[in-house]
Amino acid sequence: MYKGDTHKETHKNAERDIIGKEFADEDREEDDQYLKEKIMRAIVDKDLCIACGICEGIAPEVFSLQREPYAEVLLDPIPAELEAAVEEAKEECPEGAITIEA
Ligand code: SF4
Repeated sequence: MYKGDTHKETHKNAERDIIGKEFADEDREEDDQYLKEKIMRAIVDKDLCIACGICEGIAPEVFSLQREPYAEVLLDPIPAELEAAVEEAKEECPEGAITIEA
């Protein structure tokens, strides 16, 4: 009940609160769904990469220097269990060549 409301206004306000809550719940469900679908991608800028191998050493499942003179990204999207390693590789890359999209 709101201060100064008549009985009718109180009823309307209560209805509005219920409808507002339903919309809020729907928004929350959409947000949860969005978070579940959120994926991580790693990108290496081959013009910046100096092929030092640090990223491959940290996350060999994701980064490889086997075929190219720069680090290739082997997995897209990045599996959840490797996300922390990819973050670390990005932090450790001396050239700032790794970008993460999430
Ligand atoms: Fe290239 Fe950076 Fe990986 Fe070194 S750590 S190989 S510079 S992407």
